[in-house]
Amino acid sequence: MGYFRSTINAMMGYVPGEQPAPGTRIIKLNTNENPYPPSSKVAEALQTIDVNHLRRYPDPFANEFRQAVRDVFQVPTDWVIVGNGSDDILNLLVRACAEGEERTVVYPTPTYVLYKTLSAMQPANVVEVPYPENFQLPLVDLTEARGAITFIASPNSPSGHMVPLDDLRTLAKNTSGIVVIDEAYVDFAEYSALPLVQEFENVIILRTLSKGYALAGLRLGFGIANPKLLAGLFKVKDSYNVDAISITLGAAAIRDQTYKNSRASQVKASREKLTLDLQQLGFSVFKSHGNFILATPAKHNAESLYLSLKDQGILVRYFKQTGLDNKLRISVGTEEDNTILIKTLFEILQQDR
Ligand SMILES: *Cc1c(COP(=O)(O)O)cnc(C)c1O
Repeated sequence: MGYFRSTINAMMGYVPGEQPAPGTRIIKLNTNENPYPPSSKVAEALQTIDVNHLRRYPDPFANEFRQAVRDVFQVPTDWVIVGNGSDDILNLLVRACAEGEERTVVYPTPTYVLYKTLSAMQPANVVEVPYPENFQLPLVDLTEARGAITFIASPNSPSGHMVPLDDLRTLAKNTSGIVVIDEAYVDFAEYSALPLVQEFENVIILRTLSKGYALAGLRLGFGIANPKLLAGLFKVKDSYNVDAISITLGAAAIRDQTYKNSRASQVKASREKLTLDLQQLGFSVFKSHGNFILATPAKHNAESLYLSLKDQGILVRYFKQTGLDNKLRISVGTEEDNTILIKTLFEILQQDR
């Protein structure tokens, strides 16, 4: 007998973007981290932590954090579930809802690859519905797939596009399973689908502190939904999935919306500038609502550009995937990072002419 279930032997593990060792001199534009530090309120909250309290288990409901979410987003605390990153909540959703041939996982592609990985582990049948070239939500095909879970990332990664609220509404109305709206990048966008949780019991909104709040290292995410939807997730959740330090620091970060929004404005302004600069270098660029840009080179090969940039100490993301094989996903960095990126790309393109 082998060590693992046949499902696990057959599946591919999720491959995260490269994380260079701390101290490596590198411009890191590959995993959509925030280029700016977190709020100073986080450092202040860290000072208040009494190490003796770590003797005890943390609050299984992370109420200190849920109360901050209640105050900021005007939702009752029992409409909030907190996770070890929003990846943890994605995992809970698949564990609780998807199974085999009948309880299918559905999502439009290209999108966040973890949806596929988690479904493969279960295992659960997956229906991938390709986005058309204009990234209109393929509503009919998604609905007809009758998912126990339908994942929609909006803004989507790696395309950067947003799904109109009316399309999400139509999807939620015509789906009997759960519709997950993954808003990892909402802090850089113009609107949120949060109001839909009041309208539809089957909708859950996922948020993370990893991108907008610059706390990817803390591992904190949350879901907002009707308590009837959350009930099943709480059964599956590890009791102590979020540690005591994260709960306190996360609450401090989320209460400081002013700081988060001002950094997001900076990133959005840089995103627009980087878009123009890439277009000047001949790239075609999708309009992005996140803190990253998906760009297609005019004549060059994206994979070789990715490798040349890596040689020069600049990491961007290259996906060896149909539909994405000649594209680069570039996270928006500081103004300085972006300038070095553009200058380096210019030089590489010149040399290869
Ligand atoms: C980054 C990201 C997440 C995961 O965020 P964590 O909270 O760090 O686990 C979820 N969904 C999408 C689409 C993301 O890009």
